[in-house]
Amino acid sequence: MSPHRTGLSGARALMAQLRRQMAETDPAPERLQSLVRLIAASMVTDVCSIYARGEDGALVLIATEGLKAEAVRQTRLRLGEGLVGLVAERLEPVSVADAPRHPRFSYRPETGEEPYRSFLGVPILRQAQCLGVLVVQNKVSKVYEEEDAEALETVAMLLAEILAADAARLVGVSLTETRPKVVRGDVVNSGLALGVAVLHDPVVPAARFFAADADAERARLRGALTRLRGWIGDVLGGGAVLQAGASRDVFESYALLAADPSWERRLQEAVDAGLSAEAAIDRVRGQHRARLGAARDPYLREKLHDLEDLENRLLRFLVEDPDASGPAPLPPGAILVARSVGPAELLDYARAGIAGVVLETGGSGGHVAIIARALDVPALVCGEGSTATIQAGDLLALEAVVGGAIPPQVLVRPNAEQRAGLEARMASANTAREAVRRNRAAPAKSKDGKLVSVELNAGLAFEVDQLQTSGAEAIGLFRTEFQFLMSAELPRLSAQQAFYRDVMERAGKLRVVFRTLDLGGDKFAAALRLPKEANPALGLRSLRLALAHPGLFRTQVRALVRAAAGRELSLLIPFVATGDEFAQARALIDREMAFSRSHGHGVPLALRVGAMIEVPSAVFALPEIARQADFLSVGTNDLVQHLFAADRDNAEVSRRYDLLHPAALRVMAQIEREAARARTPVSVCGEAAGNPAEALALLALGFRRLSVAGPRVAAVKALVRDCDIAKLRRKFLHEIDRPDGQPREILLKMLGHTA
Ligand code: PEP
Ligand code: MG
Repeated sequence: MSPHRTGLSGARALMAQLRRQMAETDPAPERLQSLVRLIAASMVTDVCSIYARGEDGALVLIATEGLKAEAVRQTRLRLGEGLVGLVAERLEPVSVADAPRHPRFSYRPETGEEPYRSFLGVPILRQAQCLGVLVVQNKVSKVYEEEDAEALETVAMLLAEILAADAARLVGVSLTETRPKVVRGDVVNSGLALGVAVLHDPVVPAARFFAADADAERARLRGALTRLRGWIGDVLGGGAVLQAGASRDVFESYALLAADPSWERRLQEAVDAGLSAEAAIDRVRGQHRARLGAARDPYLREKLHDLEDLENRLLRFLVEDPDASGPAPLPPGAILVARSVGPAELLDYARAGIAGVVLETGGSGGHVAIIARALDVPALVCGEGSTATIQAGDLLALEAVVGGAIPPQVLVRPNAEQRAGLEARMASANTAREAVRRNRAAPAKSKDGKLVSVELNAGLAFEVDQLQTSGAEAIGLFRTEFQFLMSAELPRLSAQQAFYRDVMERAGKLRVVFRTLDLGGDKFAAALRLPKEANPALGLRSLRLALAHPGLFRTQVRALVRAAAGRELSLLIPFVATGDEFAQARALIDREMAFSRSHGHGVPLALRVGAMIEVPSAVFALPEIARQADFLSVGTNDLVQHLFAADRDNAEVSRRYDLLHPAALRVMAQIEREAARARTPVSVCGEAAGNPAEALALLALGFRRLSVAGPRVAAVKALVRDCDIAKLRRKFLHEIDRPDGQPREILLKMLGHTA
């Protein structure tokens, strides 16, 4: 037997031959046959075989050099059966020096494989899916080198593309799924959508697989790595915008991974072997994804997630034109599919135009959810690994409606009947929405004559414009922190003042409640360069941050006071925990008023300062807070999170995060009673107020001012008009107080009647 020629030079020679082979236009089965022949010759192995995974999960021998030709299409191994099955199960190379003695060896006489002792199999992976297994065998008992497995994995990538494109002809079955598939999810923002999948994680087209000029590819890879490291350095140094929601420790972990020489070596070796830089990254990413799918250990999973994120970034740095500005155009009606996405990234996609969002992780109370709601884009969170089988360009039917005809789900590749069903539901939802919209200007007066003020939650420039189109009676909550999150430097006094003035002018005569900075938690402004905290949701955030950095707070208040000269100004203080905390904030505001007056600047005609009730202690300190505040606003997003100790942005605990649980409703009832006793006006500005069942619950509890996302305003007004609040209240209060009361059921039943 000739010496075994493997390693990088062998791999490169093999790649060059494969590139030539790919250029030829052999019919598909012959092409596979020549491939296995080529691999066996080039790697000097006695056998080379390809097993493809059929629709039933079995692995079918579809081409071989060395085994008996009769076995092709006859030999089938169940998932997990034999050494080939072991490769598909582990999703990593398996090398065995003496295969017949291995406990997993499964002898198939039709193949004639008994003389072959050594075995090396690698999975054929595509987008974390195992399409098959590529195997080489030798008669001599030998241990294959690591380079052999690397070379074979590289070939397997190419095979994955050939199999995915041509499987129907090659194997008589389609290996990339074409059948409809249901992925269940939790609603983050309700609605329906039908459109093609756009994957947030870049995909490398097969056409960009090989590189003729390895030196040029090496330079491209080096360039992308340099840009990636520069970007991480910038973020950590505070010189670039940190994605809202991402925290510093993620970037520190990125920095460590990006500096890891073994990671870079793997990428370089793939390029050295003849792959393009994209394909090299894709290959390493595929290995990590496959391991992530199999990993149980949470620490390992987190690291693999980070690595995958980093590889996605690297791919983008490689393919993005550094001079191009703005996101690439999307197909019309695209549905974004991502493991997770930051609020700023989601805004970029929205600018490019998306009809829906499917995420693996994220909660209904987090800031991505808030943005999806403001944009009126239906969104589902479907759990880890759930999007692995969705391919770019797949048609998706997104059903994000709680209590609707179809449970919340995304249907991947729906059939004609399923599409028609969704289209009909979308048409009737649009008609109903149109009817509600036509009536949006009418006051929200209930059947029993109670007037409710339905207001708008805003924070982004485009949301202020929804004031005119939504039918809202005021901006009940203006989140000021977005201006800080979107810029690399702290906005200066003059920029803040101009921004607030613009918002007030656009609102015209309608009131705007400006919430002072609510940074920290999941809203992390790079420019502040704050120290890392172990538990930022409970850390130095919001009002606490303002009181610890009074300069920051006073600059903002000064900008607001000046912007509101000659008008009324309403300020809302977030995250108030106790009465004296509110008193401190109010004292700082009073100082700013006095400062403006004494320096000859105009001041507001009237100033109202309110407190957000979103920390459980504030509920019990309500008499002290209400005595000092001009108004109160309940932030249910945070209140529910802290009440149940359930992260608002974590889908794993989303069932614990429930405003309609009697425990939360009793707290809300107490807030309403205490506020009424103190004669302090109270509103609810948490996002839940925009959901039909929750809105009804709040009306029943006595709340008469609700601030909701723009696209929800007209529907909440219609809900009020349809409701006899006094009747609902009697029924509902009784239900909350009963030990085994079912408030949710009562509301859903009511909605069935009113819908
Ligand atoms: C809330 O917590 O309910 C709220 C309105 O504020 P945010 O969502 O910005 O934390
Ligand atoms: Mg809050």
